[in-house]
Amino acid sequence: MPRTATNDQVFSNLKNYFGYDSFRVNQQDIVESVLNKKDCLVIMPTGGGKSICFQLPALSFKGVTIVISPLIALMKDQVDGLNANGIPASYFNSSQSSEEQFAIIESVITAEIKLLYVAPESLAALQNILTEKYISCVAIDEAHCISSWGHDFRPSYQQLGFLKSTLPNIPFIALTATADKATREDIVKQLRIEHAERFISSFDRKNIGLEVRTANNRISQIVKFINARPNQSGIIYCLSRKTTEQLSKKLKTNGIHAEAYHAGLNFEKRSKVQESFIRDKTQIVCATVAFGMGIDKSNVRWVVHYNMPKNIEGYYQEIGRAGRDGLTSHALLFHSYADVIQLQNFASGATNEAVQIAKLDRMKQFAESTTCRRKILLSYFGELLGGNCGNCDVCKNPPQFFDGTVIAQKILSAVYRLQEKEAMGMIIDVLRGSQNAAVLAKGYQNVRTFGIGNDIAWKHWQHFVIQLINQGFCEIAFHKNNALQLTEFSNNVLFKGAKVALTKPLVITEIKPVIKEK
Ligand code: ADP
Ligand code: ZN
Repeated sequence: MPRTATNDQVFSNLKNYFGYDSFRVNQQDIVESVLNKKDCLVIMPTGGGKSICFQLPALSFKGVTIVISPLIALMKDQVDGLNANGIPASYFNSSQSSEEQFAIIESVITAEIKLLYVAPESLAALQNILTEKYISCVAIDEAHCISSWGHDFRPSYQQLGFLKSTLPNIPFIALTATADKATREDIVKQLRIEHAERFISSFDRKNIGLEVRTANNRISQIVKFINARPNQSGIIYCLSRKTTEQLSKKLKTNGIHAEAYHAGLNFEKRSKVQESFIRDKTQIVCATVAFGMGIDKSNVRWVVHYNMPKNIEGYYQEIGRAGRDGLTSHALLFHSYADVIQLQNFASGATNEAVQIAKLDRMKQFAESTTCRRKILLSYFGELLGGNCGNCDVCKNPPQFFDGTVIAQKILSAVYRLQEKEAMGMIIDVLRGSQNAAVLAKGYQNVRTFGIGNDIAWKHWQHFVIQLINQGFCEIAFHKNNALQLTEFSNNVLFKGAKVALTKPLVITEIKPVIKEK
């Protein structure tokens, strides 16, 4: 980027306060827009360098830049970091005494500080100083929290809508790493900055190889995965606190040291795990999504999702913790139908149930894709990839289709014979002619389809049933004990001679890890 007389000060601030010689993609344009008092929407992946976009202009403004941030826990770190760089900044939240709060308000009025971090709940307490006399810029970090279309909606963010009318002439900069197209537009609408300039960085993290496997024998798959990567740092994300602890114990019995981390642990314990991970003393952490926010560790080599994330935003953010240093890294997702059902149950009854279910569906489509996964991931963020990526399991091992009509007919007629009342497991047991107690109790050994599929392995049946579901030939009735049911397409297969293409069960090919030479 050219250095000119007008931006000379900005460049020297970049160097003197932050120690950087140059801007990263989009940073300079954003900084210049903010300095020109234009509202901006910044979509940049985690680790992309969003902070500079408002911290650097803040140095040039006369008044204070208010930074809205949802995470009180992270505010202190950010403010400490700024102070350590010689930039006067504070935070304001409900945990402070009224004396402290008063002193902070004073420092805004006297323009002693350049940035003030505030939780949205605390804005009301600052009403008297929210005028353009004192405030020069407003930055809204984690801006997706304002949208119920986002994956992390926070009601407290909604009151930010009023800010623009209070401060109409100063620039607003909204930043997020995780907005899909619908959420983006909702953010600018809610913040009343529809005319904001949009800066959308590429979300492609080419160095992260993507892989999805079915969740059969997850633990032993994970043990093998880790053993193939000695001395590498990694995070295993789990859905529940309990799972993080159980998994870390099971890994221990397999000779692998992995700490558990979740929001239920006390502060000391969490800090200890985090610290020891950052310092490479603990290589592996089994964590809930609470882990990773604000952790700046560049050499995380892999991220495993033990459970499926709720949505693509979360998945992308979590895998994005790998390979910040740009070196080859790996993201492995385990896909299990039990997880999908559990997530479905979590979503049901939520205020934005429909949104959550739609997002979960996209996640499922990603996991079950038979085309380049990176294409799906990036298209979710509105970015189109020209060719296939060559660095995902589908690209490396393209699925082969075959005529699966007979298999489909067998599955669908079993569904029909069991009167659309049974879940996938029972359908497969009946196809395979299992004489287990549940089958016998219901007398299913007498139905016509019993045992017609004993030549195909259980997990391969599962693979085929999932494909039929994805192709719309049958569906899961989530509110009826997950019974498999027929759809209007089923008839075409059962009675009208429609052909069904299925993919062969994936042979799990290990993608060779890179082992760093020391
Ligand atoms: P984000 O908020 O987008 O996740 P940060 O603002 O925390 O990202 O920046 C991520 C990392 O990149 C930090 O370690 C930061 O110091 C570094 N960084 C940001 N901008 C630059 C730059 N222009 N040159 C070098 N490093 C940078
Ligand atoms: Zn690919």
